Amino acid sequence: MSSRRCVVIGAGILGASVAARLASAGMQVTLLDRDRPGRGTSRWSFAWLNSNDKAPRHYHDLNHAGIRAWAELAGDLDGDAWYRPSGHVELADPGDPGTGELAARVSRLTEWGYPARIIDPAEAARLEPALRVPAPGAFFLREGYLLTEPLIARLVARAQSHGAEVRTGEPGRVTRLEPGSVPRVRTAAGTVLEADDVICCAGRWTPELAAVPLVPWRIPGSTAPGLAVRIGPVTPPGLSRLVHTPDLALRPHPGGLLHLEAPDTVVDLHTQEAELDRWAEELLRRAQRTVRGLDAARVVDRKVCPRPMPTDGQSIVGRLPGTPGVYVAVTHSGVTLAARLSQLIAEDLTTSTPPACLAPYTPARFT
Ligand SMILES: Cc1cc2nc3c(=O)[nH]c(=O)nc-3n(C[C@H](O)[C@H](O)[C@H](O)COP(=O)(O)OP(=O)(O)OC[C@H]3O[C@@H](n4cnc5c(N)ncnc54)[C@H](O)[C@@H]3O)c2cc1C
Repeated sequence: MSSRRCVVIGAGILGASVAARLASAGMQVTLLDRDRPGRGTSRWSFAWLNSNDKAPRHYHDLNHAGIRAWAELAGDLDGDAWYRPSGHVELADPGDPGTGELAARVSRLTEWGYPARIIDPAEAARLEPALRVPAPGAFFLREGYLLTEPLIARLVARAQSHGAEVRTGEPGRVTRLEPGSVPRVRTAAGTVLEADDVICCAGRWTPELAAVPLVPWRIPGSTAPGLAVRIGPVTPPGLSRLVHTPDLALRPHPGGLLHLEAPDTVVDLHTQEAELDRWAEELLRRAQRTVRGLDAARVVDRKVCPRPMPTDGQSIVGRLPGTPGVYVAVTHSGVTLAARLSQLIAEDLTTSTPPACLAPYTPARFT
């Protein structure tokens, strides 16, 4: 085991988690990223830890296990710096028949052992005193969010403390994967790395290196990109947890900011700057209508960021058929899933029996 050489491509939340897990298990790990760790999709994620509306049941269970895996890791990886198990308040629109959908979802989730309960406006106000118009809704007790940048820094440091080598910039930029009994990785610096296993965690760029079907994210009209908006300053006390209203998602962000998203922002990588500014201002106004303490707030940052979205909506995790030595891991909900997937990937690489709960996510389903 200790002589097994693994090259992990991509130091986002998934690759950093995998590298930390494999290095801790005694493998010789080289972690490659063409940028600094954590500067890809993970940096702009809403980073909501949840299995709130995930289907089918096996995918719900995987995400639920993902939430528990972060709780376990927080205990021995300086969780105060990145782990925010705040709970999640979802406010229903009182005039919307969708309230029935929320009640049905809470009922289904509690049957599945996922802590959730319906709340009235008084409880919403008690949970989040900064809400301007507390409404009925639901409280999801074990959900929360992660601060991905300090987390990824700690995962990379943990991998290094167990002997992993980290290469970034041109020495970390992979130009080609060569499968085989001894797979090879070529980098832009002209180096050829040989390994026993290559684990490709390149997020939305994975198809450039390995044949997996993702929703095309560069084309006009793609559904993969989302708009992330950060606003501040927030006059204390502000929000203490993650909140959804029918037209806005909010959570605290470091530096006294709020991170916002909305379900109706239709943007892609071709959307004009003026249109993005208009959306950012619209989300700021919605936040000011929702939460007290934002009178002086302005848009501090905004970013259109594409999600890595497998075409069938489910994670793609496992050995790639026809490419010996190459293992891929690419998923939406990667923030929720990374800690659990890294455990399963380590198990898959080191035992002869693949974990049964990874079976639905095998890349072989596309061949
Ligand atoms: C707007 C938005 C909101 C989201 N909200 C949530 C949420 O609330 N909850 C949730 O769980 N998930 C959410 N997601 C999804 C989640 O953020 C992603 O699934 C996750 O960040 C993917 O992590 P990753 O490590 O796979 O990819 P990334 O973070 O993109 O990391 C991939 C890394 O690979 C590197 N790389 C790429 N190509 C190469 C190469 N050739 N050579 C070397 N390095 C390479 C990149 O530089 C990058 O650092 C959201 C995503 C978006 C965009």
